[in-house]
This record gives sequence, C-alpha cells and structure tokens, in this order.
Amino acid sequence: MSDVERECHQHAVGVFDSSLTEYDFGPQHPMAPVRIDLTMRLAAALGVTGPGGLELVPAPMASLDEIATVHDGALIESVERLGRRGGADLGRGLGSEDNPVFDGMHLAAAHVVGASLEAFRRVGSGSALHAVNITGGLHHAMPDRASGFCVYNDIAVGIRWLLDQGVERVAYVDVDVHHGDGVERIFWDDPRVLTISLHETGQMLFPGTGFPEDLGGPDAQGTAVNVALPPGTSDAGWLRAFHAVVPPLVRGFEPQVLVTQHGCDSHLDDPLAHLMLTIDGQRAAYQALHELAHEVCGGKWVVTGGGGYALVDVVPRAWTHLLAIVGGGAIDPGTAVPQDWREHVRTRMGRVAPMRMTDGRTPAYRDWREGFDPDTWLDRAVHATRSAVFPMHGLDPWP
Ligand SMILES: [Zn+2]
Ligand SMILES: [Zn+2]
Repeated sequence: MSDVERECHQHAVGVFDSSLTEYDFGPQHPMAPVRIDLTMRLAAALGVTGPGGLELVPAPMASLDEIATVHDGALIESVERLGRRGGADLGRGLGSEDNPVFDGMHLAAAHVVGASLEAFRRVGSGSALHAVNITGGLHHAMPDRASGFCVYNDIAVGIRWLLDQGVERVAYVDVDVHHGDGVERIFWDDPRVLTISLHETGQMLFPGTGFPEDLGGPDAQGTAVNVALPPGTSDAGWLRAFHAVVPPLVRGFEPQVLVTQHGCDSHLDDPLAHLMLTIDGQRAAYQALHELAHEVCGGKWVVTGGGGYALVDVVPRAWTHLLAIVGGGAIDPGTAVPQDWREHVRTRMGRVAPMRMTDGRTPAYRDWREGFDPDTWLDRAVHATRSAVFPMHGLDPWP
C-alpha cells in the first residue's frame, strides 16, 4: 500500500444500510435492487468492506427541507401521496413504465438522498477524504419530475449542500452510459459547478440530450460539457475520449471537491445501451478519477453509483472495484471471485457467476496529443466537444 493509499484507507467511508434496497420499482423493472445486495456481498467476501477494509457508516433519511433544496414541493407532495395510495402523475414522470409508483416510494427515495448527503457531509466537513454511496447517482431526476428510474436527484442535493456551505467550485464527472441530464439542468446556469458527462450519443439513447454545443446557461458558459460517444465505443476509445477531455478541464477549473457518478451501464453486456467497455476499462476510469481527485482537490472525492443492469455479470464486480479504489485498496483484476459468492448467485439467481474480477483485457488507449483522425466517429465526437468548450477555458482544442 502506498502512502496515498494508506491515507485514503484511513479516511474513506462507504455509506450503506441494507434497507436502501427498498428503492425498488418491482420485479419487471431493470433496476433491480439485487444488484446492490450482490455488490455488497461480493465486496464483503473479498474483504473490500468490513474489518480491515472500507469502513461502512449508516445512511440517514433526508428531510423534506433537504430534498426541497433541489425539488419542487409539488413533486415531493406527489411522490409522498402516490407512495401511500398508488396512482399516477404522468406530468411529473410518476407511474410511467420507467418510473412505476411503489409502496413507500418517498421514504425509499429520501433514504437514497440521505445516504448521498451523508457522503457529501463527510467529505465537505473534512471528516472523510473520500465517501461513496453506490445506491446513489440518480442523475436523471429533474426539479419538477422523476425521470429515467430516478425519483429524487441525490447528487444535486449533495452539490447544493456543498455550495450552501460556501464551497466555490465543484466538478461533477458522470461516466454513466446515459447523459447526466438532471444534474446538468439543475446547475445549468451556475458557474460554480462544472458538469462533464460522457455518454452514448443522444441520437441513439435515452434521454436524447447531451451534445457538444450544450455548454451551460448565459451566466455559466462552458460549465456544461458533453461528450456524445458513438455506439460500439470500447475501452480504448472511451479512455481516449475521457483523457482528451476530463483531466484538462477539471485541472483548469480547480474544483475544491470532485463528485463522480459511476453508472456501469457502459459495459458491453449491459442490456440497455450500446457501448462496449469491459470491467477492466471501467476500473481504469475509476482509477483515473481517483488520481484526479488527489491531484486537483487534495483528495476530496464524493462517489456515487448510477445505472447498471447486467445484475450478475457486471454491477457487482464493477462496483466492488470502485469500493476498493475508494477505500485505498484496489484489488488486482486477476483476483478470483470467491466461491461462496458464486454459489449464492447460483442458488438465488439460477445463474453462473463470473470466475474472475477481470474481463481479461488490458485497457490501453492512444493519447489525443499524438493526433486525431477526423475519419472516425469517435474522434469527430471528441474534437467537437474540445472545440466547443476548450476555448471558453483558455485551452487549445487542437492536439
Ligand atoms: Zn485516495
Ligand atoms: Zn445509465
């Protein structure tokens, strides 16, 4: 363990209660909470959490006032009412196929917000250097409506809290395969928050937004950044795009806190989208963000989960790597998946679980500074983002 890792290890927390799995849209819904349970079981089986690993702390419930720092009273009232009596409020995104109403919906969603808020408080107060809530990352929720499996926007409530504490600059990086539209919208015209989303292009995928020319409101031009990736983008292309855009902008912005959303639905096995990353590429992205937090923010790093619908093959491994990195004890990709966990998956899910913590790839990419090829969709996408936004930060868009 290096000195930096030792520091992370002593000052990192995971926020978790098993009752967070009550955020559950029902058996037909892709965002099955078993993905969280399987992740926490795998992390524990590998010693990533528990004695000697990442310290877990309980998740409080967010108050109505805390949720109302981002959301309209009318939405909150509707979520509470429908969660007691059922029904639908399609104008507020509730009761749709994506966001079915369920019993206790408000309490479950408020708990997710409370868990993320606890992570933000720990980092904001300095009591932790890194803090993670894998059940958070509900980045599509809008001030006035639920969207894309997201009822309340826990990330935005947390960032708002940091700003209310006097934090002057927050960078938010969203690596979920879908555009982080809710967080972007909420801070669209706020120059204190830089949002960067890398996602499969909205031409192909929900929510259909997040293009290079979307740059933020009149008071915050250049603080919304979007990389709209072509379908089929794999580790090498994704990491090439990430490194061409994220580190230079984050360094230039000089945030005091880095907030990252780690939807793992960019994996080639994910059923809802069309990127082709492996666990190894995702792990490389998590490590790059960890290093960036240390380089730029003195290590102040708030981490959430996000999407991810390959419940057995991807989410548990991806987020166990994430928890391990946050906890300062990254696990070797070649590590065997513990047999007890594989047996649990077999009996509970009737599925054969992966054997190793790797997909067997060594993530590598060609650096943008070596030049780019305008004949490829990927490079055109990266160049479109760089040329739209880099000049606004005094950066040269050309390699
Ligand atoms: Zn660290
Ligand atoms: Zn997603």
